[in-house]
Amino acid sequence: MWYLNEERRLLQKTFRSYAQKRVRPLALEMEDNDASSREALLEMGKLGMFTMPVAESCGGTGPDYISWGLLLEELGKESATFGFLALLRQVFNGPMSAACSEEQIRKYVIPAVNGEILMGLAGNEPAGGNDLMEYQTKAVRDGDDWIINGGKVLVTQADEVDVFMVIALTRDQIDFTTMQGLDIFFVPTSDPGFSVGHIEHKVGLNGSRTGSVYFDNCRVSESDRIPNPWGILMGFGPELSGYAALALGGAETMIAKTADYLKNRIQMGRSLWDTHQAARHDLAKLQMEVYNFRNALYGHLANRNCGIHDSLEAGALKAATGPLMEKVASECMLLMGGTGVIHETGIERYYRDAKALQIACFSDKTFVDTVAGSL
Ligand SMILES: Cc1cc2nc3c(=O)[nH]c(=O)nc-3n(C[C@H](O)[C@H](O)[C@H](O)COP(=O)(O)OP(=O)(O)OC[C@H]3O[C@@H](n4cnc5c(N)ncnc54)[C@H](O)[C@@H]3O)c2cc1C
Repeated sequence: MWYLNEERRLLQKTFRSYAQKRVRPLALEMEDNDASSREALLEMGKLGMFTMPVAESCGGTGPDYISWGLLLEELGKESATFGFLALLRQVFNGPMSAACSEEQIRKYVIPAVNGEILMGLAGNEPAGGNDLMEYQTKAVRDGDDWIINGGKVLVTQADEVDVFMVIALTRDQIDFTTMQGLDIFFVPTSDPGFSVGHIEHKVGLNGSRTGSVYFDNCRVSESDRIPNPWGILMGFGPELSGYAALALGGAETMIAKTADYLKNRIQMGRSLWDTHQAARHDLAKLQMEVYNFRNALYGHLANRNCGIHDSLEAGALKAATGPLMEKVASECMLLMGGTGVIHETGIERYYRDAKALQIACFSDKTFVDTVAGSL
């Protein structure tokens, strides 16, 4: 591969071995029990795997986006859910590190990078969804503190994180001239005013516990506020290409499993692989899509290494994630016959995860709209 040098090959080997040993056995358990992966995620941080692509001043190893893609691809091969949760760490840590005060970096970003705490993002609201302009969660100044009241829905790891970055109104209305009136606050989940509501049952990404969270007079100090965070909120955009790395890994696993099945399924003394040319071609066509997808992704990440941050392209890659996973899973399930739909085979899981990934962190349709707006 053109994007691999000796150092990255070594990293890829390390990530692969970690994902196979640690994430593979977790995948089914997380899925079946909607079980926490908190311990494994913290461990990843301790092993230094959340240092990419975080700035060195925040405990990171600097912005090598290709190595970041390699890590997510390997995690995606074993579990889209686990990969998604690892990706969120980096989505938060990367852009946040550019916006936080020195105290906030010391208190939150560095511990999150080092796997001492898990941070989450509480943005989405019952009314208005992900539209920041419609948010109703409010922070009101009280001396040196802020008092936060409100509720958020569809929040990932609602009952698992240590600190939420909460997006809240600091004025009655956002001032659209100065873009002031909406801030981010670090709210520890140990705050007596914080509570967790219903954890949803959903179609995919089981094991990433999605639920409601409430803030009832949560008291936060001024030093835990990030004022006027539009830059950071927009800064999340380029990180979304990480979703594509998860899809790439998932597609590679599904194609490998299906090829293996066809080669080992013997009918009248010959394998389906040998007798069933149409199946070989179906799989080859999927593999060709994977080649193109891989090149698009790593080309994009190589540009990021050179300082080119193309949010539109990242959005397009994110929007291609779900459809690729869904298509490969659908075809592979058919090619594997009855075995393909069996839960333990792991292919139908990608089929469902693809749907949830299309909506988590902005619905794909929103990206299509953004691209349409750029035409
Ligand atoms: C698994 C999962 C995990 C999530 N984790 C988190 C989390 O950790 N933190 C958090 O804050 N949120 C989280 N969310 C919420 C997620 O960001 C929103 O569900 C998503 O952005 C869509 O918003 P909505 O559900 O309100 O849909 P709606 O806003 O009601 O959208 C409905 C449809 O309209 C389209 N649409 C809406 N607004 C626009 C627009 N302005 N331009 C073009 N099209 C538009 C959408 O694309 C969609 O197709 C999560 C969601 C899921 C499914």
